[in-house]
Formats: sequence, C-alpha cells, structure tokens
Amino acid sequence: MITFVPHSIFVSGATGFIATHTIAQLLAAGHRVRGSVRSTRNAEVLAPLRVLPGADDRLDLVEADLLAPDAFAGHLEGCDVVLHMASPYALDVKDPQRDLVDPAVTGTTSLLTACLNTPGIRRVVLTSSMAAVTDEPDGRMLTEADWNTHSALTRNPYYLSKVRAERAAWAFIDTHRPSWDLIAINPFLVIGPSLTRALNTSNKVVADLLNGAYPAILALTWGVVDVRDVADAHVRAMDAPGAAGRYLCLAGTMTAREMVALLRSRGYDGYRLPRLGLDGPVGTALVRLAAYAQAPGIRQYLRTNLGRSLKADNTKIRRDLDIAFRPIEQTVLDAAADLVTWGHVRRNG
Ligand code: NDP
Repeated sequence: MITFVPHSIFVSGATGFIATHTIAQLLAAGHRVRGSVRSTRNAEVLAPLRVLPGADDRLDLVEADLLAPDAFAGHLEGCDVVLHMASPYALDVKDPQRDLVDPAVTGTTSLLTACLNTPGIRRVVLTSSMAAVTDEPDGRMLTEADWNTHSALTRNPYYLSKVRAERAAWAFIDTHRPSWDLIAINPFLVIGPSLTRALNTSNKVVADLLNGAYPAILALTWGVVDVRDVADAHVRAMDAPGAAGRYLCLAGTMTAREMVALLRSRGYDGYRLPRLGLDGPVGTALVRLAAYAQAPGIRQYLRTNLGRSLKADNTKIRRDLDIAFRPIEQTVLDAAADLVTWGHVRRNG
C-alpha cells in the first residue's frame, strides 16, 4: 500500500497563472502550502487563492518582492519542498535589466540562499523556461542539453532573464553543494484556463489571434503545453525519485496556421481571426521588414522566430515524471473558451 505523505510546500509568485493551478493541485492532494505574493493586502488579487478548496486551513500567504534584500529569509521554516515560480513575464518593459533580469536572477539567488539556511528542505523545483533553451529555433530537435546563448538586453531580454536565472541556479548548486537537489522545468508556451482574471502573456497569444491583433497568418510555430499539465509536472517533480536536471515541458508544436484553422473550425469563425496568409517565404520577408515598426520586444521576437521550424523532445519528462500531456488541440480550445468567459476576447461586430 502506498502511504500518502503530506508535504509543506513553499511556492513563490503564488498569484501567477501557473502557480494558482499548482497550488490548487497541491491543496487538492492534501498538502500544506505557503505562497509568496508581493502584497498580502490586495484582497481582490488574492481571492482566487483564498477560495481554493483546502485554502482555509492549509494555505498561508507571506510577502516577498524578488528585488528586496533577503526577500525569502525566514519564510521557508517548516517547508520541505520549494517551487520557485515568481519571475517577471513580459516581452516589452522600460528597462530590461531593472525590470526583467535583476528580479529573475536576484530572486532566484535569494530564494536558494534561504533554502540553504533552512533545515528540512529536500528539493527545489525551479520554473525555468524554453527561453533558457533557445531564442531562435533552427529546426534541430531541441533537448535538455540545449542552452540559449544568444539573448541579450537588446535581443529578447525576457529570454535573457530566464537563461541567466537558470544558469545562476545551477551555479549555486555547484558552489554550495546543498543537501537538497534542484530540478528545472522548462515549459514552452503555456496556455489554458486561468483561475484568475489576469490575462497572462502566453494566453494573450491566443487572445491576440481572436481579437484581430495579427494582421495575417504569420510563419510562427509554438511549442504548446497546457497550464494544468505544467502544474502537474511541478507536483510530480517534487517526489519523482529518479528525477534530475532539466525537463523540456511541452505536449507538441503548432503553427499559427494550424491554430487559426482549428479555432475557425471549432466555433470561433465569428472572431477576428486572420485570413491573409503571410507565412510563405515572400510573406515572411515582408513581415520581417514590417516588424521594424513594432515595439522592441515584439520586433525582436518576430525577427528571431519568423519562418523558423521548432522541434523539441519531451521524452525525458514523459519518462521520468510519468506525465501524459493533454492533446494541444484540446488545450487551445479550452484556452479560447476561457478567454471568452473572462471577457478577454469579443466577437466581430
Ligand atoms: P505570471 O505573470 O502569471 O506569474 C508571474 C508571477 O511572478 C506573479 O505571481 C508575479 O507577481 C510574480 N512576480 C513578478 N515579478 C515579481 C517581483 N519583482 N517580486 C515578486 N513577485 C514577482 O506568469 P506565469 O504564471 O506564466 O509564469 C510563472 C513562471 O513560469 C515564471 O517564472 C515564467 O517565467 C515561467 N514560464 C512561463 C511560461 C508561460 O508561457 N506562461 C513559459 C515558460 C516559463 P505579481 O502578480 O505581483 O506581478
């Protein structure tokens, strides 16, 4: 008989899109959770967490800003597992160093330092990203051995923040040789139903398609994974005995053309889905030029991703974490339905 051992789990960035699902799953499984948020005073922002079944007696919230000195000191007492999910997720910011890289790296280092100073920690699971794997897919099959070596403050700075944060985490392990181990989960584009009103940067891709923000079908390919499966991967990673190192986390890939066709055929024809195809060689050359008129983050993303084939191997995560991903078509349709429910997308006319 397998006996259930409840954990006390610290989750940073508890209000986030992925974190709220993860906390919901942890509470449902009977675990105790301490989540960090920037402020415990905004009742509206915290409401989706407070109403989760089990939250009344097994969820407590503490304050931590990633940039504050010793942000996590004293917060981990009594916890045996730490899930580090907080990190700014935006493509366009005013000051990429201050707004993206500093919080990502400083927050990771200060949380790992707090783990070092807290007896009883057994495992840390870091939410890294495909952004730490590549920012310019080149058609090769990506694996856990790949690292993004191209991003800079002037080129996909969000990607830079994620690669620097994950590098800092592994360097920390090399330097300090802690008694606990580190696992990194590297999700691709995470979409699906949201437990909060906020429109996450990744669900915004689907919202933008439905709201007419894309003037045409572009030559883009996304690695797609359901937010509920990303949460599940983190929960499984806490205990999986043979788990080690990094895990590419995606169910499969989908082109913009495939996503538009799926949505059009499944009830979303009345939204502003793009019709014009600019995903051939000529269209792609035109869009590359037109990208110069976009905000820097979008421009850099388009110029490094347009027309590029993305392939990534999810064998390791399926094997070690015994995870069965939802089909990406279901994920896209569930994301779209949820965007309608929250009022993030509107029918044409
Ligand atoms: P969200 O933006 O929903 O969540 C990010 C969380 O980080 C929020 O709780 C946010 O708090 C918190 N945060 C940001 N900056 C700070 C700060 N300075 N101090 C304290 N907390 C901060 O994004 P996701 O849920 O999508 O992202 C969660 C993690 O997953 C991130 O590490 C992200 O990089 C990673 N990821 C996401 C992917 C995706 O497609 N969504 C893909 C791959 C990785 P607040 O609400 O107060 O802003």
